[in-house]
Amino acid sequence: MKVRDAQKLRDFLLIIGFVIMLSGCIWGETLFKIGAVVSLSCFIPHFLYNKCPHCKKQLGRNEGEFCQHCGGKISYSH
Ligand SMILES: [Zn+2]
Repeated sequence: MKVRDAQKLRDFLLIIGFVIMLSGCIWGETLFKIGAVVSLSCFIPHFLYNKCPHCKKQLGRNEGEFCQHCGGKISYSH
């Protein structure tokens, strides 16, 4: 998985999970828990794939072209 895809997936899960959690406030606790699980699962692509291809360090919120640790170019191409 490419870094950019992992970042997209992470943001997607976070937003969807948050929306489910909010609807859980109206529709019940079960939905709230599902939303919490979904939003927490955003950490899976984050920790597994959101890494520099050169030094393998976490990129965090870095969505730029270069790694903030080693300065290496991050490939976002598919
Ligand atoms: Zn790096």
